[in-house]
Amino acid sequence: MKENLAANVTINTGNARKPMTLWLKILIGMVLGVITGIILGDSTEMIRPIGTLFINIIRMLIVPLVFCSLIVGITSMKDASKMSRVGIKSIVIYLLTTAVAISIGLALATIFQPGGSLNLSVSLINEVKPTTSIVDALLGMFPTNPIAALATGNILQIIVFAIFLGISLIHIDESKARPVIAAFEGFAEAMYKMTEFVMKFAPYGVYALMAWVAGQYGLDVLMPLINVIVLVYIGCIIHILFIGGGLVGLIGKLNPKCFYKGIFAAQIMAFTTTSTSGTLPVSMKCASENLGVSKSISSFVLPMGATINMDGTALYQGVLVLFIAQAYGIDLSLLDYSTIILTATLASIGTAGIPGAGLIMLSLVLASVGLPLEGIAIVAGIDRILDMARTTVNVTGDLMVSVLIGKSERELDINIYNQ
Ligand code: ASP
Repeated sequence: MKENLAANVTINTGNARKPMTLWLKILIGMVLGVITGIILGDSTEMIRPIGTLFINIIRMLIVPLVFCSLIVGITSMKDASKMSRVGIKSIVIYLLTTAVAISIGLALATIFQPGGSLNLSVSLINEVKPTTSIVDALLGMFPTNPIAALATGNILQIIVFAIFLGISLIHIDESKARPVIAAFEGFAEAMYKMTEFVMKFAPYGVYALMAWVAGQYGLDVLMPLINVIVLVYIGCIIHILFIGGGLVGLIGKLNPKCFYKGIFAAQIMAFTTTSTSGTLPVSMKCASENLGVSKSISSFVLPMGATINMDGTALYQGVLVLFIAQAYGIDLSLLDYSTIILTATLASIGTAGIPGAGLIMLSLVLASVGLPLEGIAIVAGIDRILDMARTTVNVTGDLMVSVLIGKSERELDINIYNQ
């Protein structure tokens, strides 16, 4: 299974060995970085290469990670196409709500401009892509040479090719497909492990980059980060109210209050563990015991949701991508906005339901519109706080879909639901 990015790491403090979680180390890295930057000012330029190294090794991960995890995500939907009606219905709702979620994030960040007060300089100006017409952009999504797409890191083309390959693998003879899928699963597994290794270096990379940023811009960088947290939380609440409960009421014609009451335990679990996969047993229990969704529906819809449905993560990406663009003073075109919605929605299929996965996927969305990946280091320190909110939304979205599907398939016990 997809590994835990926030795996416990052990630090040696004399005789006593105390485990310290990775997110805490990253947070400490950020705080120490800011302090170092304020004290040392411009001379933090010296430690910047450590940060650049961190960014480079994240870059190294993007292409193989996305390619393999998307193929694994798509081929895992084979069962979905078997149960075609329920499967297709869930996939459509999952993708639509994800696209809505990212739009909420983009709208909030456009209105409130969380990064507007920052004025960071772009060191990788060559990453900023020239804008093209919509037709060219749509045509450009289809690679004429997939190997060239992989070699040049053209994210959208890679996603499109991975989807084609995944779907083709589902449709060929099982005996021929199995070894290829197994190879991709193994490769994806290795990439998750590599991501875990790279993330162990994150506290140092974040330290160096934050020291450099704070050295140049002083305390001005902190307030925008607080704004980002507030915005992501507001977006998550809006999504839980209007998309979670809203759709249950509007489409399912069920009382949203009972829905919220029934899923509360799963939400708390998601908030504290920041893992949709880890919350799965509790979500399944809530779905069948509190919401009255039949086991056959919940045991199919919820694990699939934990793999491909990431509304909270998409919303977070909407806010963060714009925050980073604003912080670096880069204007995005309408086409860039569409690219962000498309990339984040498709990328959510390949996002693991584990702590911190969204941060790595953020690098993918940034790369798709040519924004500087250094932005990741600036927000990595507050990622755990954001992860708590987005995972809660992810789990709420999965449970909402299980209720809607249960209702439409007459597999929902209304008496249990209303209790
Ligand atoms: N932690 C999230 C989840 O498990 C994924 C993410 O990092 O966005 O759903």
